[in-house]
Amino acid sequence: MENYFSKEIETMPAEQIRALQNEKFLKQMQHVWNDCPDYRKKMEEAGVSINDIKSIDDICKLPFITKDDLRDAYPYAMLAKPLSECVRIHSTSGTTGKRVIAYYTQHDIDLWDECCARALVAAGASKDDVVQVAYGFGLFTGGAGLNGGSHKLGSLTLPMSSGNTDRQLQFMIDLGATVLCCTPSYAAYLAESIKERGVRDQLKLKAGIFGAEAWSEEMRRDIEAGLGIKAYDIYGLTEISGPGVSYECSEQTGMHINEDHFYAEIIDPDTGEVLPEGEQGELVFTSLDKEAFPVIRYRTKDICVLTRKECSCGRTFIKMVKPRGRSDDMLIIKGVNVFPSQIEAVLLEQGYQANYQLIVDRVNNSDTLDVNVEMTPEKFTDNLGEIADMEKKLVGALKAMLGIFAKVHLVAPKSITRSEGKAVRVIDKRKI
Ligand SMILES: [Zn+2]
Repeated sequence: MENYFSKEIETMPAEQIRALQNEKFLKQMQHVWNDCPDYRKKMEEAGVSINDIKSIDDICKLPFITKDDLRDAYPYAMLAKPLSECVRIHSTSGTTGKRVIAYYTQHDIDLWDECCARALVAAGASKDDVVQVAYGFGLFTGGAGLNGGSHKLGSLTLPMSSGNTDRQLQFMIDLGATVLCCTPSYAAYLAESIKERGVRDQLKLKAGIFGAEAWSEEMRRDIEAGLGIKAYDIYGLTEISGPGVSYECSEQTGMHINEDHFYAEIIDPDTGEVLPEGEQGELVFTSLDKEAFPVIRYRTKDICVLTRKECSCGRTFIKMVKPRGRSDDMLIIKGVNVFPSQIEAVLLEQGYQANYQLIVDRVNNSDTLDVNVEMTPEKFTDNLGEIADMEKKLVGALKAMLGIFAKVHLVAPKSITRSEGKAVRVIDKRKI
């Protein structure tokens, strides 16, 4: 028997969902027009007035928001509520020092928690479960999102945050965790550790919700076998709210989008033209009832397909297939967004040139990042102590920028192969 957290909404006929979206969208647009001068200006520049927006069918007249727009808005420009009504922020990992800050009123947090509670129920969880949240807590939305969803559902929540594998496993066993939420790479690492310790038979886990990284079906099967669970995908972005924008159900053929809160479109990434259902393109989201940080037609850069094909779980929410790739060069390493341009910025700032190569790999189910950097003729030395000191300095600067550890290897000038066309900056050896 399939359970739902918000049965009436999640199984609502498509026409009724559309009517609900229409009503919420018009209200959201009024709010944005009146209270978000930055977006209003964008509309005016595009020659669109609020009077041109009479129904959700008019959404195609509205300008897109890109990640650059949100970065440029740092820190307060896109805020649509007085700060005194906001209760929290989260932020993306940021590039070249500028992060996207997302603001939440209590209403926005409640809405987000509800989305995550729906994802937990779709993965088979109920108030009787013990939910171990091993996503990072802090500015990252992973921990807070699933923690909030688990509270809303009334499950016993273990706010573990990421890392400290010994403690994770001890609590998992001693407190009888039944649902695990973390990145897929950390789930795979936990599965390895459990195997090494021979404690698999002491686990009560039955399901896991793993997101914030791309993962393959092959990895899903490995995690399921290693932990003895069913593994579910979840999708979200800080720019839209966080995890729970969409979630997998028992059928696992795509993720149901929480359509009462987010309106999805698929566009041609080159022309911006809206594509019909079933065609592959870039996913674009519009929030329908956010207060502090509404986003209109946000270009996610995720390439996927939308489908309203009937689902055996009974949910009527449209489904997105798992993102197949980004239309830019972002890497997800240990669940953190990393852009080669961030690394480049650090190198230039430290007096190196942009001759570098990134090697991403997965060792013992954990992502690794190696950065090969050419010394400049001025910096060139064959003194190993000096090289070690220079490498150490770069490791520190990269850690400060990216928030993750990268191993730095300084190499001789002109030893990295030059390319005629687009430089091969990234070698991703992970099989995903
Ligand atoms: Zn379904």
